[in-house]
Amino acid sequence: MTGFDTIVIGAGMSGVTCARMLADAGQRVLVLEARDRVGGRMHTDRAAGFPVDLGASWIHGIDGSPLWDLVQALGIPTLEYTVGSFQVGGRPIEDFDGDGRRMDEAETARWIADVDAADALLLAEIEASAPGDTYLDVTERALDRSGLDAERIDDIREFFRHRVEEQCGAWIGDLDAHGLDEDAIDGDEVIFPRGYDELPRRISTGLDIRLGHVVTAVTREADGVTVSTDRGDFAAAQVVVTVPLGVLKSGALSFSPALPDAIAGPIERLGMGVFNKVFVQFPERFWSEESYVLRALGETGEHWHSWYDVSAISGLPTLLTFAAGPFGRRMQELSDAEIVADAVAPLHRMYPGAVGEPVAHWVTRWGADPFSVGSYSHLALGSTHHDHDALAGPVDGVLHFAGEATWGDEPATVGAAFYSGHRAAERILGAPVDLAAFAAGVTAREQTPGR
Ligand SMILES: Cc1cc2nc3c(=O)[nH]c(=O)nc-3n(C[C@H](O)[C@H](O)[C@H](O)COP(=O)(O)OP(=O)(O)OC[C@H]3O[C@@H](n4cnc5c(N)ncnc54)[C@H](O)[C@@H]3O)c2cc1C
Repeated sequence: MTGFDTIVIGAGMSGVTCARMLADAGQRVLVLEARDRVGGRMHTDRAAGFPVDLGASWIHGIDGSPLWDLVQALGIPTLEYTVGSFQVGGRPIEDFDGDGRRMDEAETARWIADVDAADALLLAEIEASAPGDTYLDVTERALDRSGLDAERIDDIREFFRHRVEEQCGAWIGDLDAHGLDEDAIDGDEVIFPRGYDELPRRISTGLDIRLGHVVTAVTREADGVTVSTDRGDFAAAQVVVTVPLGVLKSGALSFSPALPDAIAGPIERLGMGVFNKVFVQFPERFWSEESYVLRALGETGEHWHSWYDVSAISGLPTLLTFAAGPFGRRMQELSDAEIVADAVAPLHRMYPGAVGEPVAHWVTRWGADPFSVGSYSHLALGSTHHDHDALAGPVDGVLHFAGEATWGDEPATVGAAFYSGHRAAERILGAPVDLAAFAAGVTAREQTPGR
């Protein structure tokens, strides 16, 4: 068996970042990836001749973001799109009431003010919450104190539920009261007109990545680690496991000796949510040129409530909507045709007679994906922020974990994956890795044939 310095399991953003940093430092590194592609939950479908991001799309806030610095250093183009975090204001949004009627300017302003006021009360309730309180508990207390009439409270209650579903992929009653603490957005948000997977793909250039290798077991021995796959065993001094939390929870990877409680506890306590995307392309645009988002409240928006205009990517009239949380799990059982028909139904109420027959669609089922088993991690009731970072290990100084679920500052993001890969590399090398030098190295390698 060939010995490597480090084996990295998983070629998503955290895995390729860590592997690249270790290889740059002179290590012999092997990356084992179950899929037939690099990028993991950054997955761009280009079959139609333009990019469709089936996984991550946004950088949620570029101010002070080392991820943004990397994107800039690699010269990757972006488009400003500052409504990716379920805001009510900020950029033009077409809001519709429960009857599917377009709200006028005054109604929209009142709606935004209602949510802002409820959010301020909610912050105080979160602050005052006790262990064991769910996000549902604190939102209900905030709504009780709002003094608004029942109908306005119902709309905000629904909005809070949908926000938790979109941000965490979870039901509001399963999320800890502190589950959205890390949700602050600093600066603009951006999307990627060439497809977001360009980033991990470019970082991975020149790495020894074995695609189609499904890891089944990680065994720690006196002199290192053996990683077993469906195509044989590989040995190394250290290993970095970057498979998603959903895969760890499923037990698809066995660890010998068994993982200590310090790692097994967070795996059990943290939640893995479901957040799926449905892109629908229409023959003609039926919404305003200025709108970033169409959003329905009340009965009209009970299930499908927000449609994001992503036409700028393909040049064709395209809306992106989401199915998340328990609703997202139910939707995964249906056929594409059923899902698209269901998602478009509220649009017919909102734009009577104007919605043409869809000409193309893309539907994801991340919860049913064996190499993801969900979309991203969240603070399920019973877990704490500390669980995220505790999950990184290391165990016995040789078994490290990285990936979005291991980064407590902003889990569930590409940034978290990037920073956690960086942290694992620094821990293995026992030395700092400069991010500007890392970015310069990626660019230099692309200009050197054969590397
Ligand atoms: C629909 C969706 C939308 C999202 N939107 C955004 C967004 O707009 N902005 C944002 O910042 N984040 C977003 N995210 C989250 C973001 O995509 C992830 O946080 C990030 O890509 C995770 O990177 P990672 O390296 O931790 O994991 P992954 O990218 O999942 O990489 C792990 C790798 O491990 C591999 N693997 C799994 N099991 C095995 C095995 N047994 N053997 C070998 N390899 C295995 C997987 O195939 C995968 O390639 C979104 C996620 C989803 C699903």
